[in-house]
Amino acid sequence: AKIKEVDFVKSSNRPKDCPKDDRPEFAMLGRSNVGKSSLINFLVRKKDVALTSKKPGLTFMKTQLINHFLVNKSWYIVDLPGYGFANAPDSARMDWSSFTKGYFLNRESLVSVLLLIDASVPPQKIDLDCANWLGRNNIPMTFVFTKCDKMKGGKGRRPDENIRNFQELIAESFRQQHPPWIMTSSVTGLGRDELLLHMSQLRNY
Ligand code: GDP
Repeated sequence: AKIKEVDFVKSSNRPKDCPKDDRPEFAMLGRSNVGKSSLINFLVRKKDVALTSKKPGLTFMKTQLINHFLVNKSWYIVDLPGYGFANAPDSARMDWSSFTKGYFLNRESLVSVLLLIDASVPPQKIDLDCANWLGRNNIPMTFVFTKCDKMKGGKGRRPDENIRNFQELIAESFRQQHPPWIMTSSVTGLGRDELLLHMSQLRNY
C-alpha cells in the first residue's frame, strides 16, 4: 500500500477531458476548507504535489478543476472542486453540480469517492445532502473524517459526538450497508496507513 511515486498528470475543465485510460481512481470530495489539500499532501507526503492554501477563497479558485495525480504509475487520486464555499457566488455553486455530477455519473474507473467530513464541526446539511446524492446514484463512497485531532475527549482516536451524530443522521439513507469510514488527522498522522490500506483493498477487490 506504499506510495513511492506521484505524478501530477493533468487538470481537466470538463469530465470528458479526464485521462482516457482505465486505471482505478479515488475522488476526493468535500466542503471547501474541510482539509482536502492537507489530506492529499499527508497521503503522498510530498509538499509540492497538492498545495495547501491558507485562504479558502484561493483554494476554491484553484480547485475549480478536476486534478489527476497518478500514484505508482498504477492508480489515481483525483482532486475535485470543493463545494459549498460560503462566499462563493451562486453561479460557482451551480457549476459544481453540472461539472462534478457529470464526472460521478460517467466515470467508469471510479473505485470510490472519498467524501471528506470535518470532524471538528457538527454534521453539516450540505455534507449529508452530498452523501445522500451519491448514495441515491449508487456511487460507492468512503467517509473520511478530517481534523480528528480537534475532536473532544482524548487523542482523537475515538469517534466523538460530531462523528456519531453524522453516522446517525446518515444511517437512515444507508439501511442496506453503511459506507466504510476512517478517522484521519493530517496534523497527527492518524488514519494514514488505514486509508492507504483501504484504498489498496478496494483496488484489488
Ligand atoms: P481544503 O480547502 O479542503 O483544501 O482545506 P485545506 O487543506 O487548505 O485546510 C483548511 C484549513 O484546515 C487549513 O487552515 C489547515 O491547516 C486546516 N487543517 C487541515 N487538516 C487539518 C487537520 O487534520 N487538523 C487540524 N487541526 N487542522 C487541519
